[in-house]
Amino acid sequence: MNITDIISRLGVDEAALKNGELIVDTPIDGSEIARIAMDDAAGVETKIAQSQDAFLQWRSVPAPRRGELVRLLGEELRAHKEDLGRLVTIECGKILSEGLGEVQEMIDICDFAVGLSRQLYGLTIASERPGHHMREAWQPLGPVGIISAFNFPVAVWSWNAALALACGNSIIWKPSEKTPLTALATHALLHRAIKKFGDAPAGLSSLIIGGRETGEQLVDDRRVRLVSATGSTRMGREVGPRVANRFGRVLLELGGNNAGIIAPSADTELALRGVCFSAAGTAGQRCTTLRRLFVHSSIYDEFVPRLKAAYASLPVGDPLETGTLVGPLVDKAAFDRMHYALDRAKVQGATITGGERVGDSGWYVRPSLVELPKHDGIVCEETFAPILYVMKYNDLDEAIEMQNNVDQGLSSCIFTRDVLEAERFLSATGSDCGIANVNIGPSGAEIGGAFGGEKETGGGRESGSDAWKAYMRRQTQTVNYSTELPLAQGVKFNI
Ligand code: NAD
Repeated sequence: MNITDIISRLGVDEAALKNGELIVDTPIDGSEIARIAMDDAAGVETKIAQSQDAFLQWRSVPAPRRGELVRLLGEELRAHKEDLGRLVTIECGKILSEGLGEVQEMIDICDFAVGLSRQLYGLTIASERPGHHMREAWQPLGPVGIISAFNFPVAVWSWNAALALACGNSIIWKPSEKTPLTALATHALLHRAIKKFGDAPAGLSSLIIGGRETGEQLVDDRRVRLVSATGSTRMGREVGPRVANRFGRVLLELGGNNAGIIAPSADTELALRGVCFSAAGTAGQRCTTLRRLFVHSSIYDEFVPRLKAAYASLPVGDPLETGTLVGPLVDKAAFDRMHYALDRAKVQGATITGGERVGDSGWYVRPSLVELPKHDGIVCEETFAPILYVMKYNDLDEAIEMQNNVDQGLSSCIFTRDVLEAERFLSATGSDCGIANVNIGPSGAEIGGAFGGEKETGGGRESGSDAWKAYMRRQTQTVNYSTELPLAQGVKFNI
């Protein structure tokens, strides 16, 4: 696998891939593809200081001009979609179509943020005082720290970066230690855009390479006004209180344990395809992967055997090859965690198909279907692998209750052609997740909606809708344009 040409077209100096301490392996066959230098504490400190200085200049640049930088980034991404998408596949193992899809998502959020840069709208509010105007304005916030996970090595950065830059902030990115190469390449593309832009302040965007300790430095630094952290619930449990302790702002995008309900009226052909993509696609390594399936007892014996047959036919293999639908797990630790979960399911009385290793280089597995008598134990945990727990239900209330009865609250779906069931699922007493879909699986969100989840998923929202507000400082402004000084609530204070 020769990545030299790819990375040089993306603007990364080949020397940057040699002689560093951080060893990068490709999940495709486990071979080493780079050794990248890590930032030490002093280097991170310098980058945070530069980021603060850059923010003080960038916040005064008119927002539509800031949007121009994001537009130029989108152009670089369009021009290099094929190379960056391929590198995503090489470094994190998702199939090429999904690697390219990840870059498309980056382009989409850039387009969104360019439009946003001509909006960033506030409100006017009626004042109780004569001769007064009251309004709400949105101001740039400060340096934004972005901590990202391995499974969306570049898209998650773009969701944050495009909005943060348009909103007038500087950005500092700590990518996963498993995927620093795509981060270097993405950052090189941003720097090309910055060069074309012309007068952006130095230090507007920084990349820091390292492990947890490097992330912790961002987390604890008071100058980093927002920490947007994507990863496991374990990570969020550490990051959240630390940022709160210094009264910083935190946006958490953590683990999911997403469910689907197959109702009696479902279009089962559609449901079958939706389930396969969202449960086995990306080798089960999406935060929105379908992990729990509730099938109505009246169709269980017809639907589940068809699902098993579809699972058995899923092509598992090299993610760069056309036709492959399931690539490798990211590493051996992921394989071990998958098998730990399957062993626990066995103890809970599960009937298991799939799960076995495929080949002996890289960590490829056949996606696993696990039929369980009860919603309990291991089912309530997120295992970041292609395991789909399948259970029967008899009435919709019971299915919704099981679906909601986990600590995570990211994504959910129902397959039904019954409008009453669909609307019940979407009602206040339905799904308790940040995302609720009808007749599509829980994964594969579009950037136009706010993305994120409830409970232990962290409560943060990124990407579309009004998620941009998390990247800005809200200010209520009152202007007295009269020659009197009436006080609110009729208070008198005459001197
Ligand atoms: P991870 O928690 O191991 O690491 C994520 C990032 O956090 C890495 O950059 C890591 O270096 C950093 N980190 C870890 N501990 C830290 C600490 N104490 N302080 C600061 N930084 C720290 O997650 P992962 O294995 O890379 O990714 C998989 C997990 O991410 C899954 O749980 C998945 O559901 C979740 N995820 C969630 C979303 C979402 O939007 N909700 C998206 C993608 C992935």
